[in-house]
Amino acid sequence: MFAPMPALERRLTDLLGAARVITARDALLAWECDGFTVHRALPRAVVLPESTAEVQAIVQLLHGENVPFVPRGAGTCLSGGPTPSVPAVVIELARMKRVLHVSPDDLLAVVQPGVVNLDLTLAVQHLGLHYAPDPSSQSVCTIGGNLAENSGGPHCFKYGMTTDHMLGAVVVLPDGSLARLGQNAGPRAPHALDLPGVFCGSEGTFGIATEIMVRLSRDQESVRTLLAAFATMTAACRTVGDIVAAGLVPAALEILDQATIRAVEASVYRAGYPEDAAAVLLVEIDGPRQVVDEEAAEIRGLFLARSPLRIEEASTPAERKRLWKGRKGAFGAMGRLNTDLYVLDGVVPRTRLVEALDRIHAIAERHGVLLTNVFHAGDGNLHPNISYDGRDAAQTARTVAAGREILQVCLDLGGSITGEHGIGSEKLDYMALMYDPTDLEVMARVRTAFNPSGLCNPGKVLPTRNACAEVAKWPKMVERVLDDHQRRGGDR
Ligand SMILES: Cc1cc2nc3c(=O)[nH]c(=O)nc-3n(C[C@H](O)[C@H](O)[C@H](O)COP(=O)(O)OP(=O)(O)OC[C@H]3O[C@@H](n4cnc5c(N)ncnc54)[C@H](O)[C@@H]3O)c2cc1C
Repeated sequence: MFAPMPALERRLTDLLGAARVITARDALLAWECDGFTVHRALPRAVVLPESTAEVQAIVQLLHGENVPFVPRGAGTCLSGGPTPSVPAVVIELARMKRVLHVSPDDLLAVVQPGVVNLDLTLAVQHLGLHYAPDPSSQSVCTIGGNLAENSGGPHCFKYGMTTDHMLGAVVVLPDGSLARLGQNAGPRAPHALDLPGVFCGSEGTFGIATEIMVRLSRDQESVRTLLAAFATMTAACRTVGDIVAAGLVPAALEILDQATIRAVEASVYRAGYPEDAAAVLLVEIDGPRQVVDEEAAEIRGLFLARSPLRIEEASTPAERKRLWKGRKGAFGAMGRLNTDLYVLDGVVPRTRLVEALDRIHAIAERHGVLLTNVFHAGDGNLHPNISYDGRDAAQTARTVAAGREILQVCLDLGGSITGEHGIGSEKLDYMALMYDPTDLEVMARVRTAFNPSGLCNPGKVLPTRNACAEVAKWPKMVERVLDDHQRRGGDR
């Protein structure tokens, strides 16, 4: 069915030159997985385009040869999105990293997809502007990956997810043609159909964004970060509810549990969090100085009503940076706990956080896995993290099984199987737990409109038609993990 590799490699090399076409097995190992290390698969080849025209030429070639392909940014995805599910050519966009245009008065920028999230803010900060969505991976992940995943971050509680900051995109469709979704329309022009909104969150299955127009935000006059440490997780979660019930809308409301605090404090991300606390709550408020002063006083009062162990307040950039260092570095700090980390991503209504965490702890205990929690408490977006040794198949299978039960708890409590990390390959089998067949069919039809050949990132997001039956045969993912491990001869 596929064109033989040597012929394909020759034609890709003709397009890009040998240095930007990778086919050697050892070199391909670098593209074997993303942050969801349970799913590993070598691409058929990796290509490194530097322009829209090159992406178009590559896709036209692969489409003509009926060869599947997978877009990739920085590979920080946590659900297997850029990992090929079939032998595919990975098209890595990381070399397309130019900020093409900034219009401070229109509050917008046009960027190539490989621009790193934080680099965009650094490029416009002298104008008193920033790009608001701030995944904790923001120093590495790309705007293209953010668009494909509809990524969130601590400040999305107030400012919204990527989709709220996405104005348009130039997209190479899976047949190699070029579409402009919302592009040229400007920030306030209505779209006949909100195609940028449809494309956002399509996880690389609708085509490849090669130019992206984003909304920029003005820096606020005053920003303040408050920390409250509590003796119980319940007190921390209830304080989040108190703040929202008081009508306050902080920029961020984040919680770290004790296991996370201890991992952070033992790492290079040490932030001075109290290690005896069961939970640390970080609240950031921003706006006009007087409003921020008043809100800070009100939040302190709400903290005190829940008897915190400690309160800290940071108003200078350096103090704020220290308080955020631990939160932003939390996943990195967990590298100390074991060789691999399974970062889960589920949502529950904010009012059910305490119950959800109790049930999640019980699941972890039953499966004997090491659990830490760091989460966007304001959004009810949980990140239960399981540290495990991926070289141990039984431990990996227990981890995956516990993860599946945790996501079922999120659904049982009226939530979702993803808040911001997407479905990818990780949660493919769970889609039928959340959506009925008609919902899935509608989604499949939308995908077919963009990707009729199915060549663009196959095997992601949407399960096959008989998914319900497949889920009934659970634990399918666990079986896959064990099979894969056996195929590798019990080693990685
Ligand atoms: C330590 C850590 C912290 C994280 N924190 C957060 C967080 O706070 N919030 C959050 O939402 N996520 C978070 N993530 C997840 C991840 O960083 C985001 O999903 C991010 O948007 C992925 O960007 P990337 O450039 O790495 O994309 P990749 O991982 O390379 O790809 C992600 C998906 O996008 C597709 N894709 C990539 N580029 C394009 C393109 N140009 N056109 C079309 N499709 C494309 C790929 O096919 C894939 O399906 C975190 C990850 C890590 C490792």
